[in-house]
Amino acid sequence: MPEGHKTHFLARAHHELLAGEGVKVTSPQGRFRTEARKVSRRYLDSVSASGKHLFYEFEGGAIVHVHLGRYGKFRQHPSPPPKPVGQIRMRMIGPAASIDLTGPTTCRVIDAEIQQEVVNRLGPDPLAGGRKLDVWKNITQSGQPIGALLLDQSVVAGVGNIFRAEILFEAGLDPQIPGSSLSQESFDQLWKSLKRMMTVGLKYGKIIAVTASEAGMPLAKVPEDQRFRVYGQTECRRCCTPISSVEVGARRLYHCKHCQS
Ligand SMILES: [Zn+2]
Repeated sequence: MPEGHKTHFLARAHHELLAGEGVKVTSPQGRFRTEARKVSRRYLDSVSASGKHLFYEFEGGAIVHVHLGRYGKFRQHPSPPPKPVGQIRMRMIGPAASIDLTGPTTCRVIDAEIQQEVVNRLGPDPLAGGRKLDVWKNITQSGQPIGALLLDQSVVAGVGNIFRAEILFEAGLDPQIPGSSLSQESFDQLWKSLKRMMTVGLKYGKIIAVTASEAGMPLAKVPEDQRFRVYGQTECRRCCTPISSVEVGARRLYHCKHCQS
């Protein structure tokens, strides 16, 4: 599932490609056809992200709200785009570029009031100025394990399954520690890791948990299979013991019992 770095990355890219232009909106698959007509051929004012939600704001107040969910994907094409292939829910065609959306959890037209309701349900988004103190409050007010709290979008917006595993590993934290038992020092480390990894993710458009000095190369050159320290791994790179995986917050969480105790 795309995490917060990816939605912010897409928002920037799509804003650059399409904002300030009249955009034709269609639904080759058909499921979004009626709603697409409400915004089609209007000017796209801006594209923004909150947590894992994307908002395409059109002149006149209509907003296309997209949540990619687990299977949603965007593809970019020149303009005019090629003939539609597959289940394209939404196609946006600008003068210079076009984008196709397939498999989203949410793709609908809303107004500013509903957008505000969506944003109000989210916790602070570290990539949109979300404050450390507010996340600290949300975490320490709960007896839930920190591994579950990090996935809860009302606690902190934009963290998904990969960030969760990699952040907890870097901070050396046992995922089962209740939020209310977290020390200020541990939280400081957690926040530092979270900010660093999400900022790197936004810059490169993908999650790179390792540092350049650890990888022995610039981050842009880190191979796909060497980006993570624990996520999807079988052996800990640091202590060489097996990586454990358990269900926490309904998703599989990878962690090293030796390094995270
Ligand atoms: Zn280890």
